Amino acid sequence: MRGYLSVDIKDEIRRRIDLVELIGGHVALKKAGRYYKGLCPFHQEKTPSFHVDRERGLWHCFGCSRGGDAFTFVMETSNLSFAEAAETLARRAGVQIVRSPDAAKQASERDRMYRALEAAATFFRAQLLDPERGRPARDYLARRGVDGATAERFRLGYAPNAWDELLRALGNKGYPAALLEKAGLAHLRPGGDGHYDVFRHRVIFPIVDLQDRVVGFGGRVLDGGEPKYLNSRETAVFTKGRTLYALNWAREAIRHSDEIVVVEGNMDVLTAHQFGITNAVASLGTALTAEQVQVMKRLASRAVIVYDADAAGQHAMERALALFEDADLPVRAVVLPAGDPDEFLRRQGAEAFRALMAQALPIFEYQIATVAARHDPKTVDGKVRIVEELVPALALVGNPVRQAEYIRLVAERFDVREDAVRQRLRRHRRGTPPSPSARPGPAEGLDVDVASAEPERARRRAERLLLHLMVRERAWREVVARRLTAGDFADPVHRVLAQAIMAVPQAEAEALRDRLEDEAAERLVLELAFEEPPVVEKDKERVVRDAIAYIVERQPAARRREALARAIAAAQAAGDAEQVRHLQTAYLKLIGVIQTSRKGGDDHGQEEGGA
Ligand SMILES: [Zn+2]
Repeated sequence: MRGYLSVDIKDEIRRRIDLVELIGGHVALKKAGRYYKGLCPFHQEKTPSFHVDRERGLWHCFGCSRGGDAFTFVMETSNLSFAEAAETLARRAGVQIVRSPDAAKQASERDRMYRALEAAATFFRAQLLDPERGRPARDYLARRGVDGATAERFRLGYAPNAWDELLRALGNKGYPAALLEKAGLAHLRPGGDGHYDVFRHRVIFPIVDLQDRVVGFGGRVLDGGEPKYLNSRETAVFTKGRTLYALNWAREAIRHSDEIVVVEGNMDVLTAHQFGITNAVASLGTALTAEQVQVMKRLASRAVIVYDADAAGQHAMERALALFEDADLPVRAVVLPAGDPDEFLRRQGAEAFRALMAQALPIFEYQIATVAARHDPKTVDGKVRIVEELVPALALVGNPVRQAEYIRLVAERFDVREDAVRQRLRRHRRGTPPSPSARPGPAEGLDVDVASAEPERARRRAERLLLHLMVRERAWREVVARRLTAGDFADPVHRVLAQAIMAVPQAEAEALRDRLEDEAAERLVLELAFEEPPVVEKDKERVVRDAIAYIVERQPAARRREALARAIAAAQAAGDAEQVRHLQTAYLKLIGVIQTSRKGGDDHGQEEGGA
């Protein structure tokens, strides 16, 4: 969506649009300090948490975490694509849209991919509808109970049982094989001469983004072939970890219900929608990612996950708990008595499914129930084991109010003292292993997971804090940049944002957003711009120092840099000029300012060391 307009024109439009006036047409706004406040148009609320910053041209809701600028506001309220919203606003602002040459070139490469993917979807659809060729796929869909309306809505298709039908059909329309390869539709032959189709003899599920563009495909085999499900590989327009299957078709229902239903497979989604549960989506054959949860949080303030009752489903649920806790998105869990959502719906119907959803437990309570089923809560030994198994999950709950509530719940339910649970939790935090006699077998794997997850969370907090101060106060950017590079930020979203800030240290928060291609990073800028940093003025310096030290300690590259910097200082103090030069060269190589020499000995560093 970036790349369509030059940064200058976006700025120009933003400067001319009064955001308070624009949003005031939809929401009653009242001035409150720096901001204007009102009731959020995107979620139900009684007290205003929707904030508008007139000066910076940004809006943000603390209730549902949606936010953005004039462009996003128009997109979300009027359901427009970025291009359409830009045109609307440009008209309003009296600005003429001209594409920058660079943006036009980049956009045209991606444009061609989108057009090729769209043409492929049309081709697959025609194959499915072909009376002869499409029969095996239509038979399969009929067997699975997918009706014609559902197949049409989800644009289902069929990839014929051949090696180059798609290549030839799209080639005739002017899409070269190299482009199809880039778009994930064709493979290069092992010998290197020529291409072949990725999808063969499969039912095709187009994957569509929120701008209603086809970005990839899922394909289900029709014979015994492997793999059973095949998804397009990642491309310039398709990132699996950020995409949810059917989110485009579920978006409206998600907005209305303010709830998103997450199932495991494409077929589960189809059946759910066919049975009227139209706010269902699926992760793309992979485990849920933090970024996918962020995408969900943007659209809904609650989630329900419906997983299979098998061990894999249980494990996925435990993983999901951590992700949703991190995102602070309340989630409930439905465990099906048997089978998957697809089978359940067909056998028991939509009413039974809705009844299960209505009874869904918050995910932690669900864990309490499963742990309680494994041990006898009436015996002392059973109580000990239950608490032991729940402590790692409790430790993951980031929201202190919710954690206190859960501790109370555990104490009441199993008739143990809250104190005892708290104490065990503290011990877990400090990393003291429980005494061997108390350590139950099944929880061992969990303990290991959590032990490695916790420093990760602390690390993420440290990074976020630094970014928070860097976004809001430019003075901190220099302080941080002296000690860290963007590469030191372990969280990929943090890294993207750090890179943008460090590349243009004088940019304001709203201009930073334009430099970001990454949706999650954009959201983060907004959050940080509107949230007060959790540090009082007089502590900032110390806190920044600690956060940097924490990151440096845990980052080998940063550690090496620090060691080199200290060695350089020592050599300088000792007056050893040659050693200083030698170390500086090593330092510059390490931070990538100069190239490592191609052949063997990198001691040949005659490059000048102008640090
Ligand atoms: Zn809201």
